Amino acid sequence: TYIVTDNCIACKYTDCVEVCPVDCFYEGENMLVIHPDECIDCGVCEPECPADAIRPDTEPNMESWVELNRKYAELW
Ligand code: SF4
Repeated sequence: TYIVTDNCIACKYTDCVEVCPVDCFYEGENMLVIHPDECIDCGVCEPECPADAIRPDTEPNMESWVELNRKYAELW
């Protein structure tokens, strides 16, 4: 799954939302988030992000970002 990280904070771009085939982006408190269970791991959003904020959860130390994305996505 892909996850939104800190470079998204206060970012005003929504290019990622427009390309996601399963609409799994949600509004967090001051950034967008991805619902980790809804993401189909297609990778389409990653190159679209001008802030380089979208990372695969296979990168090191992603656990807290996965939890934050899940927490805000599930509020919707
Ligand atoms: Fe959506 Fe694909 Fe990005 Fe997952 S990897 S958030 S399914 S565009």
